[in-house]
Amino acid sequence: MPEAGGRREELATRLAGVRERIRAACEAAGRADEPQLIVVTKFHPASDVRLLAALGVTDVGENRDQEASAKAAELADLGLRWHFIGQLQTNKAKSVAHYADAVHSVDRPQLVAALSKAVAAAGREDQLACLIQVNLDPAASGRGGALPADVLELAARIDGAPGLRLAGVMAVAPLGADPAEAFAGLADIAARVRERFPAATMVSAGMSQDLEAAVAAGATHLRIGTDVLGPRPAVG
Ligand SMILES: *Cc1c(COP(=O)(O)O)cnc(C)c1O
Repeated sequence: MPEAGGRREELATRLAGVRERIRAACEAAGRADEPQLIVVTKFHPASDVRLLAALGVTDVGENRDQEASAKAAELADLGLRWHFIGQLQTNKAKSVAHYADAVHSVDRPQLVAALSKAVAAAGREDQLACLIQVNLDPAASGRGGALPADVLELAARIDGAPGLRLAGVMAVAPLGADPAEAFAGLADIAARVRERFPAATMVSAGMSQDLEAAVAAGATHLRIGTDVLGPRPAVG
């Protein structure tokens, strides 16, 4: 097991590399506004999240409620923003509403209802930011997401749900597809949502492999795990 100083150095180096890639991608795309980096810390220990916070990371992403809620509790002193990015069962909405600042994976009406109820039960003062996860590869199901044709109706539901704030859209580029094409499709959907709901400005797209394509397509939030933290440890 590497000593903490070694891990800090490793994270600092990797994080700097990712920040430089984002900067270069913005320059190549002629963008003056840098997207927000969300570091996806799933499977990595809370101690890594603490080191990342000390290195200036403000936003972290998690995809499993049990792990996320434990980390958020342990690291409450850091004032991080927690983004829930994984498929979410309605029975976990109650827990997620306690610690999440944003849920990127809202993809069905039942989940909207569950999250709205959960926010009320949690007694939170602020609204929970909700992004609609769009399935850009309807032929291959399994990773979740609303069909593009259902996005506007779902957006209206979130907009009308007490305690929730329609923040934008999110997608994962389909395996084997050209990410530039996928993210261009997402940008179109995001624009249609913004036409009706101008405050829904977030476009969450881009992972370690395809962040450049996401930046070029106008992503406002990038979700980067592996290239900041290294390979994910095996699940025990
Ligand atoms: C794990 C995950 C990421 C991060 O992926 P990396 O390839 O490790 O950068 C981003 N988005 C979602 C939805 C994820 O589940």
